[in-house]
Amino acid sequence: MNNAEFRSERIAEAPDFLGAEADGEFRNGLREWLARELPRVAGDLIGTAALHSVEFRRKWEDHLCCAGLSGLGWPRELGGHSLPLGKQAIFHEECARAGAPLAVNMIGHGIVAPTIIAYGSAEQKRRFLPSILDNSQVWCQGYSEPGAGSDLAAIATRAERRGDVYVVNGQKIWTSFANIADQCLLLVRTTLDGAPRKGISVLLADMHLPGVSVRPIRQITGEADFNEVFFDNVEVPADCRLGEENAGWKIAMDAANYERSTYFVPRIVRMQAELEALVRLAAGTRRRGRTAIDDPAIRSAIGELHINLHALRLYADRILEMAEQGVPPGVDGSSVKLLWSESHQRLFELAMEILGPDAALGPQEISAPAQGRWGRDFLWTKAETVLAGTSEIHRNIIAERGLGLPR
Ligand SMILES: Cc1cc2nc3c(=O)[nH]c(=O)nc-3n(C[C@H](O)[C@H](O)[C@H](O)COP(=O)(O)OP(=O)(O)OC[C@H]3O[C@@H](n4cnc5c(N)ncnc54)[C@H](O)[C@@H]3O)c2cc1C
Repeated sequence: MNNAEFRSERIAEAPDFLGAEADGEFRNGLREWLARELPRVAGDLIGTAALHSVEFRRKWEDHLCCAGLSGLGWPRELGGHSLPLGKQAIFHEECARAGAPLAVNMIGHGIVAPTIIAYGSAEQKRRFLPSILDNSQVWCQGYSEPGAGSDLAAIATRAERRGDVYVVNGQKIWTSFANIADQCLLLVRTTLDGAPRKGISVLLADMHLPGVSVRPIRQITGEADFNEVFFDNVEVPADCRLGEENAGWKIAMDAANYERSTYFVPRIVRMQAELEALVRLAAGTRRRGRTAIDDPAIRSAIGELHINLHALRLYADRILEMAEQGVPPGVDGSSVKLLWSESHQRLFELAMEILGPDAALGPQEISAPAQGRWGRDFLWTKAETVLAGTSEIHRNIIAERGLGLPR
């Protein structure tokens, strides 16, 4: 199997998501535009790993912005299109279906912008939103710290008010995109009094301020997608505080919810394409004297993944329907995160079983199947049961809030 086969992500057979019939014209227009523009902008990169590099992702994102495909859900008066969630989901679905890469400024668009729209002052909206809309400023999210991940309320990065500024000292970790970000949605402790959750504020912090330093962390894949970020007497203007002082916990929790309704749509669509590629891999690989797809254990595992994928589509439909009525995803959000991340890991484990020792061949080896992408993505999926809440935390949420089990 060559790389083009692995990344031939156009999946004509996949059923459509919510709103498909009513929004058919919107979907078809988008599909035609993507089918024309992606090959035109990507050229030779189609079917190669470089299509998913930060450089191309930024170029493609800029192209979407220039075509007006930005701020889809934002109110018109802020430069957006006021599209309902169903249509936003279709946009994400069609991009994934066309094989377009994920955005780099996904935190800016998916989390920061809706949070500023909900909680920002008129001045903050004027100041920060246009540069997200036109993609000229990339955002990161500074929540986790060495002593505060699952237990986010334990954050220790201090912000002390001195006149017109907050003086910030402390460390964040696992901060995705911090090495290229211009701004950070930063969670800080503004008082040590009272319950930990009641002493947290949110700052919109410029990453280029004196005293901010970023150190990339190399992952198991060899790439460095996230970073440590150090704040050493960084003076953040007080008018960059989002919402009231010490009222940041609710803002941080709401920010996570904005993203959850559409977050999994492209990931589920991509997983469908990967599962199709896995079936082709199994049909084209011989192991233990027969084609892998003829092995009952492999067939059964592929069948299970198809069932999980179907369940994920149903979950995603329900979450979108609820979100359109203003209901946050709640326990369903945990179920879909858990099922998606664990099924995605299983898919790539199965690829490793099918490939056997060939799975270890890296992109530099001429005979590496799919230029080593199966192995690289297998390693990357290890992060998926940790990011956006670990599997253990989501199981706790399902057990306590969904099933009413004791703590
Ligand atoms: C690829 C990737 C990108 C990320 N990007 C960002 C980002 O941009 N910004 C950001 O702020 N953070 C980011 N994170 C951090 C992520 O949010 C944290 O890793 C996650 O919340 C877990 O926190 P932790 O790593 O401190 O682990 P810990 O919370 O220390 O957990 C360690 C282990 O203990 C388990 N555990 C902890 N508490 C409980 C409990 N109550 N019950 C049962 N088990 C428990 C966990 O499940 C885990 O297995 C990213 C992480 C990854 C992997």
